[in-house]
Amino acid sequence: MKVNKVLEIKAHLSKPKHIVIVTHWSPDGDAMGSSLGLYNYLIKKKHKVTVITPNDYPAFLFWLPGNKNVINFSIKASAAKTAVKKAEIIFCLDFNSLKRINALGDEVGKSKALKCMIDHHLQPDNFADFMLHDIQACSTCELIYDFIELMGDKKLIDKNISNCLYTGIMTDTGSFRFPSTKSKTHRIIADLIDAGAQNSEIHNRIYDGNTEGKIRLLGYCLAEKLTVFKEYGTAFFSLSSDELQHFNYKKGDTEGIVNYALSIEGIYFSAFFVERDGEIKTSFRSKGDFDVNLFARQHFNGGGHANAAGGMSDLSLDETIIKFVALLSKTF
Ligand code: 5GP
Ligand code: MN
Repeated sequence: MKVNKVLEIKAHLSKPKHIVIVTHWSPDGDAMGSSLGLYNYLIKKKHKVTVITPNDYPAFLFWLPGNKNVINFSIKASAAKTAVKKAEIIFCLDFNSLKRINALGDEVGKSKALKCMIDHHLQPDNFADFMLHDIQACSTCELIYDFIELMGDKKLIDKNISNCLYTGIMTDTGSFRFPSTKSKTHRIIADLIDAGAQNSEIHNRIYDGNTEGKIRLLGYCLAEKLTVFKEYGTAFFSLSSDELQHFNYKKGDTEGIVNYALSIEGIYFSAFFVERDGEIKTSFRSKGDFDVNLFARQHFNGGGHANAAGGMSDLSLDETIIKFVALLSKTF
């Protein structure tokens, strides 16, 4: 962010304001960690802040400080609309196109509030007045840390803020293992632990709160639902809504499954297709040069990062898989 823009936004935040924070559809650890990290910082600065999610998110994120005040637009649309109407500033975190927040995007698009996008995904749309955008950042939480530092407020980072930011950095880097993890990432993590982040406790809360159903669903996927195309260096999983029901599916239960396919030797591209809420959600991961952001944009109305992206399919689950397999022979 350019110095004059930093000064401008600092001036806007110098007096208490009505602020709304929104994040992407089906929020993950980085979406909620960045939103609540920024929330806990801004309320310390005496602003009136409302965090709005477009829909629900996994229960393993409910412990994040400030979570009880989050408004879910799909359940409380009128409260969310009132907050957006009142807002003088809207922060858009961990997404860069209003399409990513579905119907909530119409409200944000209509609003006259100043819009500040903080994001690390590829190819941002041009709807924000301020942008802290860096595709090199490992997570939006890293950028929230940078943002607080740019505001000259590093000393305000306390246990609540650092627990939130640690969570998003940890989840978006696959626990500090993806190539997006830099020495800077570890320096920020060290600062967050010094400021009170309960690192080991956070790992327990995120990764060791599994239900029996989630673990059995993972086992079923690995044993029964994996398809490997060695010749294309590709492997994928798929799950129908009946299969989800059989394992008593809860939001978040399929997160991370796509990574198991990528852990097979010789596999550089993995995919996951799941039939959920009447739609087919797709997830793509890659190692090395294969750009899944491009693949998701071109074929599945989605996007994301070069090595991790997602999208949707209008076809049935079976048709989606047929389309995907046909694309493999054309792509590789
Ligand atoms: P996941 O597969 O875990 O849902 O998402 C992987 C990455 O792609 C995340 O950074 C996520 O924000 C992004 N992503 C997932 N679904 C979509 C989508 O439908 N559209 C866009 N633009 N990005 C997505
Ligand atoms: Mn992210």
